[in-house]
Formats: sequence, C-alpha cells, structure tokens
Amino acid sequence: MSGIPVKQGNHDELVTVRDAGDRGVGVFAARDFPAGSVVLVGVIEAELDRNTPHASQIGIDRFVLHAGLMPMANHSCDPNCGIRPNATGAHNLIARTSITEGEEITYDYAMRNYTIEHFPVPCQCGTARCRRRITGWKDLPNERKSAYRGLIAPYLLDLDKLTGRP
Ligand SMILES: [Zn+2]
Repeated sequence: MSGIPVKQGNHDELVTVRDAGDRGVGVFAARDFPAGSVVLVGVIEAELDRNTPHASQIGIDRFVLHAGLMPMANHSCDPNCGIRPNATGAHNLIARTSITEGEEITYDYAMRNYTIEHFPVPCQCGTARCRRRITGWKDLPNERKSAYRGLIAPYLLDLDKLTGRP
C-alpha cells in the first residue's frame, strides 16, 4: 500500500499515487488534512487552444493541462475536495471535509468543466450520491451546485449568468 511520495512545491510528500482498483490510479492523502486546507497545488503545464478530454477549463475560453498529480485525481459524485484557483490561474484542490491519511483524494469534474459530453465510462465512485454519468457543471443538479459553492472554478458561475441558468 505504500505509494511513491511526490513533491508538490512547498507541499512535500503530502499525497501519493497508487492503484485505485477499477478506476486506475488515484491520488491518496499521505497525512491528515483539515477541512479547508490545500491538498494539492495546481501547476499549469500547457495552455491549449481548445477543449480536449484531458483539459481543465480555467476560464470561459481558457483550457490548460495541469502538471504533476492533478490529472491523476479521480472524479467522485460526493468528493472530499473542491477547487480554488491559485495566483497562476491553475486549480488547487482544497479539502471539503477533514481527510485522513490513506483516503483517496477526489473532486467532482463538474467543479472544473462546464460541459462533459463524452466521458467514456459510467462513474464508479461508489458513493450514495453517484449520478452514474460523469457530467459537467451545466448538467449538475442545483442541490449539488449549492453544496459545492466556493469550491468550484469561478468561470462556471459567469457562464451560468451568461446563459441565464440559476
Ligand atoms: Zn459517481
């Protein structure tokens, strides 16, 4: 069960990557995190000129690839982390709940992408809130939008306003 310690800037060895069963690899807490703390510091690896299956959307017209472990963090429909942009525009993962050492680090991909049209496989997060299909923010129930308030990519709210959604 020992993973490979990974340095994340000032956050040395706070998370590890290891097998997550049916969901491939995952990112796991290498120590406890109180709710509200930074679990993973986002670093932009490349700017993209369009959306791709691996892109993170960080603005209405801005798509990037994150470096490091961020792309290995799995989706959950009831995640223990949310997103908050850092000074570079990259997404940090922030603990939504207190996280204990060994727990898998997850966030909801709808916190990051407005639309997810063709996610290839059904969700396997296994939580009671699982919505089976991994959807974007556009298709997220209002109850979830409220629950995630303050821990999503801010551009999502700008797009909701532009499109007249609640
Ligand atoms: Zn799910």
